[in-house]
Amino acid sequence: MSKFISQKLNELEAYVPGEQPQDRSYVKLNTNECPFPPSPYAQRLARQAAGKLNLYCDPECGVLTSVAAETFGVNKENIIFTNGSDEVLNFAFLAFCDKDTPAVFPDVTYGFYPVFAKVNGVPYREIPLTASMEICAEDYFNAKGTIFIANPNAPTGIALSLDKIESILKNNPGNVVVVDEAYVDFGGESALSLLNKYENLLVTRTFSKSRSLAGGRLGVGFASKEIIADLNKIKYSTNPYNVNSMTAAAGVGALLDKEYFEANVRAICENRAYMTAGLQKLGFTVLPSSANFIFAKKDGVSGGELYRSLKEKGVLVRYFNKARLTDFVRITVGTKEETDALLAATAAVLEEKL
Ligand SMILES: *Cc1c(COP(=O)(O)O)cnc(C)c1O
Repeated sequence: MSKFISQKLNELEAYVPGEQPQDRSYVKLNTNECPFPPSPYAQRLARQAAGKLNLYCDPECGVLTSVAAETFGVNKENIIFTNGSDEVLNFAFLAFCDKDTPAVFPDVTYGFYPVFAKVNGVPYREIPLTASMEICAEDYFNAKGTIFIANPNAPTGIALSLDKIESILKNNPGNVVVVDEAYVDFGGESALSLLNKYENLLVTRTFSKSRSLAGGRLGVGFASKEIIADLNKIKYSTNPYNVNSMTAAAGVGALLDKEYFEANVRAICENRAYMTAGLQKLGFTVLPSSANFIFAKKDGVSGGELYRSLKEKGVLVRYFNKARLTDFVRITVGTKEETDALLAATAAVLEEKL
């Protein structure tokens, strides 16, 4: 840190993304990417767009927005595209939180939320999950702040029903409720159907998990046209060209190639069941996941210990150095082969410990 850094960033601890090691190849099950490459159609459209990189991209993402409106059954004025969904989430902290309007989210959730609050200089309040690591909807009624709920939640993978989400919306007419649906395609119920009913709803989605475009950086927000206008105010005051033309083109392909998307999601859900059964057989407790990862623990092995032992065997998973989470590892659901590699490495680690 230099002596020049602004006072308000002095204490900030940046978000630590999952490892992206470049030194050797791992069975990489640590950052919830899709194990399958982008749709061939998405790749072709991105290559075509590469020939026009001399020109600025379309700040409105016009083609992509039309295709998304069609795909998700919403109007174009209810959509904003961003550089990953992290960006639309950051915009929401900027636009809808304030000294008197704290951000409100669970104590166990996406680790970026507290960092977004701090970098934007807004207070936040954490609401504990229940003993079974679930979100209790009633705890969020009349929250006096802007609510952020990842559904399914991370890193637990547990989903909240649409009824419960609606009860939170209904009981917070004066607060924006952000529903982060990064993992919804793997088994959650989307709140998109409530868009016309609640002016306080903002739904965010990403192309990083179910649509194989993590490296492309593409996210999207759905909300009333007034909320979208607020978010656009920030976008046009910071970086109107936040989605580059190759990524926007790839996004079009990813949405239009429905068959490819659906087949991949199906495969991940099958492998999730396979991985869960395999780990249970090895004595693990696995939380019920509606996402493309599982959260698992085994008595006598800490998350950190298992992480290190698996890494030595060439398998990367993630652990969290945080109260209530230290017993667990979070494992991304990969291909069948990757799952077999994980199960074999885990069995070997347990064997060596005996
Ligand atoms: C991965 C993830 C995101 C952000 O993904 P982007 O790559 O920035 O689109 C947002 N929320 C949750 C809960 C996530 O796990």
